[in-house]
Amino acid sequence: MASLISKPAQRRRRFHTLTVTGVERLTDEAVAVSFAVPDELASEFVFEPGQHLTLRSTVEGQDVRRSYSICLSRQEAQERKELRIAAARVDGGLMSGWINDNLTVGDRIEVMTPLGDFICATRPGGIRHHVAIAAGSGITPVMSLLSTVLAEEPGSRATLIFGNRRRSSIMFREELEDLKHRYPDRFQVIHVLSRQALDLELFSGRLDRERLQRILDAHAPVGGVDEWYLCGPSGLVDTARGLLADLGADTRHVHHEVFHES
Ligand SMILES: Cc1cc2nc3c(=O)[nH]c(=O)nc-3n(C[C@H](O)[C@H](O)[C@H](O)COP(=O)(O)OP(=O)(O)OC[C@H]3O[C@@H](n4cnc5c(N)ncnc54)[C@H](O)[C@@H]3O)c2cc1C
Repeated sequence: MASLISKPAQRRRRFHTLTVTGVERLTDEAVAVSFAVPDELASEFVFEPGQHLTLRSTVEGQDVRRSYSICLSRQEAQERKELRIAAARVDGGLMSGWINDNLTVGDRIEVMTPLGDFICATRPGGIRHHVAIAAGSGITPVMSLLSTVLAEEPGSRATLIFGNRRRSSIMFREELEDLKHRYPDRFQVIHVLSRQALDLELFSGRLDRERLQRILDAHAPVGGVDEWYLCGPSGLVDTARGLLADLGADTRHVHHEVFHES
């Protein structure tokens, strides 16, 4: 049996029908969905943290295909023999609404083999600082990237700067807390809320260029960061890329994924 932990081989893109094994509500507007990966398909679904799956279904009479990033670590995928994605509802959105409202355990759905370049190889002996800047559902690939790096690079640490509207809209809030408890010296998460006041002014408001720069200066000075991961709407990703370039970050180590134009 091929293991989910090995590297993805060169493979053709193709859909396979997988069975839904779990649907967990993360927030009022987002669910996580797990799929069983049978042994005979394990080599097809080997993935690099940061990659996504394309889901295909007929929604309102249309053949709809959309990308959803894998949101669990390599180790968890291997142990559970599962893949997991999370979908945040988009107003008027076909697939995200269908996933949130209709998908249930036992359903079978077409899932394409993993794709994507929002990846960074782990180095077991590495001593690196990985910093992710994400907003909203942009957390999904970051969950996989950072939890894998913390597990596979015991000498490295990770910082997440995570923008949301309010506390109740934070996807994976409890799982992020768990990660903090598991790696108290190596993982820090900084929540920034745009529509809910927090004690510190720095963390209340839009994650715009000025606020991001102040947070980086205080918590993740650019010179001490080895790898950057930016994910979310284009507005956030473009802002962060521009700022990092101006602050002298090496663009070869700035990885990014845009979920939609904003
Ligand atoms: C590489 C990649 C990975 C992605 N990973 C995830 C993920 O892990 N989780 C996740 O929830 N989404 C993810 N997305 C976004 C996802 O693929 C869909 O675009 C999203 O779910 C909307 O699809 P829909 O069919 O519901 O909306 P549609 O029917 O396609 O669109 C409805 C309306 O919403 C607008 N719109 C489309 N997408 C968004 C959006 N994301 N936010 C706001 N408005 C939008 C459209 O312009 C349109 O007006 C990813 C996108 C990419 C490209």
